Amino acid sequence: MNVAYGAKSDVGRVREANEDSYLIADPLFVVADGMGGHIAGDVASSTAVKVIQDESGDASSENPGTLSKIISDANAAIWDKAQSDPALRGMGTTCTLVLVDESRVHIAHVGDSRAYRLREGHLEQLTEDHTLVGRMVQEGRLSLEEAQHHPQRSIITRALGVDEDVQVDLETVELSEGDRLLICSDGLSSMVDDRPIESVLASESDPQRAADRLIEVANEAGGDDNITVVVIDFEKASGAARRIVPAAEPAEDEGSGQGVNDQAEESARPPPPTPMRERDEEPEPERPRRRWVGKLVVALLVLLLLAGGAYAAARYTLSNSWYVGLATSGEVAIFSGIPDDIAGLELREVEETSSIALEDLPEFKRDDLRTGIKTASLEEAQSTLANLEQMSHEFVEQNRTRDSKKNNN
Ligand code: MN
Repeated sequence: MNVAYGAKSDVGRVREANEDSYLIADPLFVVADGMGGHIAGDVASSTAVKVIQDESGDASSENPGTLSKIISDANAAIWDKAQSDPALRGMGTTCTLVLVDESRVHIAHVGDSRAYRLREGHLEQLTEDHTLVGRMVQEGRLSLEEAQHHPQRSIITRALGVDEDVQVDLETVELSEGDRLLICSDGLSSMVDDRPIESVLASESDPQRAADRLIEVANEAGGDDNITVVVIDFEKASGAARRIVPAAEPAEDEGSGQGVNDQAEESARPPPPTPMRERDEEPEPERPRRRWVGKLVVALLVLLLLAGGAYAAARYTLSNSWYVGLATSGEVAIFSGIPDDIAGLELREVEETSSIALEDLPEFKRDDLRTGIKTASLEEAQSTLANLEQMSHEFVEQNRTRDSKKNNN
């Protein structure tokens, strides 16, 4: 069967940088969604895609185990980088890889990016989300509806690069002519429900235009996260030359970094496999303010939930997640974990306390602290705390000056 495809990645409307990566190496397609502070997520997802690209020749549809091997190699490469560079520690990435065969597709999957199949206008999710809320839905702790909009819905329970080993879901799905596959990062699926995705895929016949439209839909819904989509169509083998929508060099301007369609019919030869990523303006790595941690990994948490229930889970410190908030004593503190409860579970521990009292800070900071200021690392949390300390001194000093002026009048 021939395939035609389109792809696009976009930074979205909120994030400073695009940490998603994707790979078009027909018949192999990948979406990877990186996590970690500063550049780390970007390094994780692009490393995954690079390793998969290098080893794409080993991918065999006769032996889908080769896909697990390739993903394990990508895992090891990210893990090694993270161990050798403190700035990259804790980074990780999702990875959803599809290998297309004559009449079927093999899917190798880790994390919460998704593969879908559109058949006869009906959209079906092929992958299972490796997320905490997904697990809680299965256990009956959360409803599907609650999960879809849960503030912690992007906490994933499996990722590449966060451990020496990774467990890969492998699955084979039959395909017939006219089927369409979508691979996407959660920047699409967490912003919109399946229905609008289905309606775009069912109504826009050109795969590149469908990809473009899906990005628009996610951005119209808020664009809270990086968005990456790959759309793959299965067409008749006979007839017109294989239609390629090439993956172009990343664009200099702020576009999608995508090839245009007019090259589409020109060549029957696929472009060289190119790891594709959005290039953005250089992110400013210095300001620690309110940098939103993209994803948190809680690999063991699910096991604990299953084995020991809520108590064990609450005791488990969420790795790679930090925030500055209020301790029960009322003072500002650094926590490991997350500020929100999930289905009644408290997932936080005080890491460092301070002597900063809430009333010694300007009003506008107090709400931030009540909510919890998330940071990408312990270092960033410490630097946030240092800034707050400074801010508190100035605020107290200002008040004192004002009070003494009042008294003198
Ligand atoms: Mn994402």
